[in-house]
Amino acid sequence: MSENRSHKGIVMDYISTRGQVGAIGFVDAVLMGLADDGGLLVPKHIPQLTADTLAQWQKLSYPELALEVFSLYTGGEIPREDLKKLVDDSYGTFRHEEVTPVRRVNNNLHILELFHGPTFAFKDVALQFLGNLYSYISRKTNSIIHILGATSGDTGASAIEGVRGKEGIRICILHPHGKVSKVQELQMTTVDDANVLNLSVDGNFDDCQRIIKELFADVKFKQEYHLRAINSINIARILAQTVYYFYAYFQLAKQGHSGRVNFSVPTGNFGDIFAGYLAKRMGLPVGKLILATNENNILERFVTEGVYQPGEFHMTYSPSMDIQVASNFERYLYYLYGEDAATISSMMDSYKKEGRIAIPAEKLAQVQQDFAAYGVQNDECLATIGNYHDEYSYLLDPHTACGVAAAEKFTAEDEVTVALSTAHPAKFNEAIELIGIEQTFPPQIEALFDKPQHQKLVGGSNEEVKAEVLKFF
Ligand SMILES: *Cc1c(COP(=O)(O)O)cnc(C)c1O
Repeated sequence: MSENRSHKGIVMDYISTRGQVGAIGFVDAVLMGLADDGGLLVPKHIPQLTADTLAQWQKLSYPELALEVFSLYTGGEIPREDLKKLVDDSYGTFRHEEVTPVRRVNNNLHILELFHGPTFAFKDVALQFLGNLYSYISRKTNSIIHILGATSGDTGASAIEGVRGKEGIRICILHPHGKVSKVQELQMTTVDDANVLNLSVDGNFDDCQRIIKELFADVKFKQEYHLRAINSINIARILAQTVYYFYAYFQLAKQGHSGRVNFSVPTGNFGDIFAGYLAKRMGLPVGKLILATNENNILERFVTEGVYQPGEFHMTYSPSMDIQVASNFERYLYYLYGEDAATISSMMDSYKKEGRIAIPAEKLAQVQQDFAAYGVQNDECLATIGNYHDEYSYLLDPHTACGVAAAEKFTAEDEVTVALSTAHPAKFNEAIELIGIEQTFPPQIEALFDKPQHQKLVGGSNEEVKAEVLKFF
């Protein structure tokens, strides 16, 4: 679609964090996923919002706001009418009229509920849009889109839901066998549309992610099948997630809050929290970005010690954050180093060789200006769920509980923190049960237990996965 772009007055350019790709337009950036030089795509210039624009945006509904944000980043490449339809279709499937409502818990804490989409996790906010966008591109370019992705549970369910039954799209999703929650597994595997293949891989999520990365690095294979990614490195996902930081801020502003707001974000791949960082760079008055992890705390260690180095893998109650390699992290590094692609490129080269990145004290000071971080242990996660259930009659899912525990730690008495609620508790009943809380499942989830499952067990080698993928495509 790049020919279209040059005819238009307004363009939005995307470049790679490693400097060897770009500038390309929005659609090409979405289709490329991981940049061809191994880096991540970022906007060449981050749009800067004036106080006037922010005041205007405060009046908008969620879909109207999403349309404005996407318009800034698509640079006229998708006609506004089409973009509006994509946005309306994507958020029309949400069960709550506000799409992502904000709930007040107490004077210092609000919860941004991101789980009202079809699969009950925040991934729907981005993946409903990405699914519709791929389908739109497939129609416009008259080509079949093959989606290949790895999931720790929620991405897979949401991506499948976003494209199931859609013409011109085939999707294959890898998940770690036995390491996703029962509801997550059912959401993926009870889908019986012929354009969906679930591979259950003998390994953990990092193994699945590595296989996908290596298959995408096979340039011949990637080009022959027009392979497309849905993982959180896709720039469209980041942009979609930026919207709710604005929306949450405006909800508080309407209730009379002025000044900065902190956001606490349960983090795995650094995607969701990077969207918050981007909102801040655009001009949203964000205070601290509180980075919450579980016992897989590579990012907590980075923020507190300045060393990025994968540690030992732990299985926790928040499996969607059981990640050691944060695939969006490079985007933040790029901004930390003043958008200097040459430096990032050599840092990532040495990371590949040495398995660690250590930043100097002055950079660490900058990181600590941007973020506070806390790794929540399993017992503290459960205790937090119990406390909020008793005190506020609010049931947190274990991921959200990590965010809330971190928010408690870093919110001063005169501050307000919005904790992102990334999943509905029904998705993670395994943890909730442990503390003796009985929950009623939403009917959509209850219904999954009676449906037959479709999945194929495979070993954790690239060849085995590739063979299955080829049979399916
Ligand atoms: C994916 C996911 C996360 C982590 O999001 P990242 O963008 O990977 O940081 C947190 N909670 C839930 C429920 C998720 O599905």
